[in-house]
Amino acid sequence: MDIIDQAQQREELERELAIRQHSCHESAMPVVGACHYCSATVPAGYRFCDHDCLTDWQKEQDARKRAGWLA
Ligand SMILES: [Zn+2]
Repeated sequence: MDIIDQAQQREELERELAIRQHSCHESAMPVVGACHYCSATVPAGYRFCDHDCLTDWQKEQDARKRAGWLA
């Protein structure tokens, strides 16, 4: 992966996070300075350290919803 790919991935992540922060469900998630999926330290304002953690977290949430673990 070169620096341009990295920049594009970061841009996609920020856009995705911005969209999710505007959705009423996910806006309840606190920004705690650590990734919600793997607990790694993240920059201020971030909920996930990278796109992989975001998508994995989304898959986990979707799986939980399907299993009826979340109201
Ligand atoms: Zn993470």
